[in-house]
Amino acid sequence: MSDAVVIGSGPNGLSAAIELARHGHSVTVYEANDTVGGGCRSAELTLPGFIHDLCSAFHPMGAASPFFRELDLTKEGLEWIEPPVALAHPLDDGTAVLLERSVDATAAGLGPDGRAYRRLVEPLVGEWDDLAADALGPLVRIPRHPFVLARLGLPGLFPARMLARRAFGTERARALFAGLAAHSVLPLDAPLTASFALMFAVATHVASWPLARGGSQRVADALAARLRALGGTIETGRRVGSIAELPTARAYLCDVTPRQLDRIAGQRLSDGYRKRLRAFRYGPGVFKLDYAIDGPIPWRAQECLRAGTVHVGGTLDQIAESEAAVARGEAPARPFVLVGQQSLFDPSRAPAGKHTVWAYCHVPNGSTVDMTERIEAQLERFAPGFSDRILARSVMGPAEVELHNENNIGGDIGGGSNSVLQFMTRPFPRLDPYTTSARELYLCSSSTPPGGGVHGMCGYHAARSALVRAFA
Ligand SMILES: Cc1cc2nc3c(=O)[nH]c(=O)nc-3n(C[C@H](O)[C@H](O)[C@H](O)COP(=O)(O)OP(=O)(O)OC[C@H]3O[C@@H](n4cnc5c(N)ncnc54)[C@H](O)[C@@H]3O)c2cc1C
Repeated sequence: MSDAVVIGSGPNGLSAAIELARHGHSVTVYEANDTVGGGCRSAELTLPGFIHDLCSAFHPMGAASPFFRELDLTKEGLEWIEPPVALAHPLDDGTAVLLERSVDATAAGLGPDGRAYRRLVEPLVGEWDDLAADALGPLVRIPRHPFVLARLGLPGLFPARMLARRAFGTERARALFAGLAAHSVLPLDAPLTASFALMFAVATHVASWPLARGGSQRVADALAARLRALGGTIETGRRVGSIAELPTARAYLCDVTPRQLDRIAGQRLSDGYRKRLRAFRYGPGVFKLDYAIDGPIPWRAQECLRAGTVHVGGTLDQIAESEAAVARGEAPARPFVLVGQQSLFDPSRAPAGKHTVWAYCHVPNGSTVDMTERIEAQLERFAPGFSDRILARSVMGPAEVELHNENNIGGDIGGGSNSVLQFMTRPFPRLDPYTTSARELYLCSSSTPPGGGVHGMCGYHAARSALVRAFA
């Protein structure tokens, strides 16, 4: 018997467990898969010797996360690798726009839009700690730093396309902004999408856009090692079908999405709470490809080889059309593709001279359309000859993405849609979103604030809530 049980060992489940264990409580984590990590795992998906990130690959929010920073996971062997350039965005003219670690270098590359870029992000970079305290927590509470939050919040409230057009005069800066905003998995004409672009840009300038040496699995392994060092235990290969099958505990923290919470613990929840769980909305899915390739990606814009992440999709309007199609329920004809080239900076990921490629695009939730050709056409557009270098590929549509991790419902990797209300108040408006109608049950996944990404902040806040309510 433990003081607390955590269902699910994603970054948020592990973070919740660590926070409880740090306060002297015994914790057991039950994980359905055979390995820990949820959306933060790596495996040989294609050929022997090629280590692919199954889900998350780049961790601007992880490196900038106040909780991860406090834990200092380097003590557990985690090593962040910072590519020379955080992000490259190739264009049809054979050049690329770069998001660099420093505001100065990024602004310089944006030419006439450098000043506008600086005006938008620089004030936020200097106040990251205050900003993160509010923006990476439950947004319904009274902000501790309202003026700092307002600096993000006011421009961030705009739809990304509108802000990009107002703030920038060149297609280059607009395209860079669009690619960052598309991480919202929303149409770029939706309110709040500008805040995603701003948060990613600011996090990059604060903490870069790093990858983990050896694979993202190392982030999860470091969290698991810290938990074990604090006395916590983890049982893998143990899928929880119902809360009734678990040992008695003072608190149960669930690293699952609302639909799963309803299924696992419905009998303990009030009818009203269950009704709201069932009204929770899931976002689009992803279609993911991983490649083993012979040599690096043959980008026309050579500077792309200096970046870990490459946003492949062209101009602001082209990216906006791709995301709008997804929102209409259509598989985009020319998808916006997020590309990772981890092995360029981490030789442990592939045999000498060979490389891994991680790529995905957004598709409607549960889509069964095979996007392989469309993704490869986009890669060929900016890297002619890419297909000739393919040694092997792994293909995962939304169904397979969900098979790897049942939290990814219909291929939704963000723990639910980021529509305005659900983004501000996930899973739904509630004073403490981590609590449920049952005193002993807590939700700690990315379906709670601040939402998707490997940063552990949802788990941390859920554990803080449990410490006050169940362990006071
Ligand atoms: C293709 C893809 C690319 C991504 N790229 C990035 C990226 O580059 N950077 C980034 O920051 N984020 C990225 N993400 C998102 C990131 O992975 C998630 O936001 C993050 O993992 C959410 O963490 P979590 O702890 O809330 O849930 P998860 O990581 O989803 O973990 C939930 C865990 O709970 C377990 N579980 C579920 N139900 C049960 C049950 N009944 N019993 C026991 N265990 C159960 C699951 O097996 C899983 O291990 C990506 C995700 C995917 C899929």
